[in-house]
Amino acid sequence: MTMNKCPLCNLKLEDEVIHGEYGPFIVLRTKDLKGHKERIMIVCKEHVHHIGWKEYEAALEFLVEIGKRVFSYTPKFIIMDSTFASITEHWHLVCTDLDPKSDDFEQILRTKWLKVIDLNWE
Ligand SMILES: [Zn+2]
Repeated sequence: MTMNKCPLCNLKLEDEVIHGEYGPFIVLRTKDLKGHKERIMIVCKEHVHHIGWKEYEAALEFLVEIGKRVFSYTPKFIIMDSTFASITEHWHLVCTDLDPKSDDFEQILRTKWLKVIDLNWE
């Protein structure tokens, strides 16, 4: 098992910006903002590759609720699929604004978006 080397298992929560906790999940600011004003992720506290559909739905909903607060400075934010994620063995989803000047904007455009939250219509 490579579990002990997993960066998401080894997060020092006291050093992170925590936005919320819900059941098995925690939402925090990503260590690397990649040029964004805010960039957050939802992580399963346990080292699991996959979560059940019901949990997935709840996680998405919780991430959207937090995102509405965190990304209130911008009209839209998205939840990205983990296609280009550097960590694949520990379940998490990244949520970001759509700043064209950010370092990973090209990659964002190539990534599948699980959800687009348009705050203009909320
Ligand atoms: Zn892990």
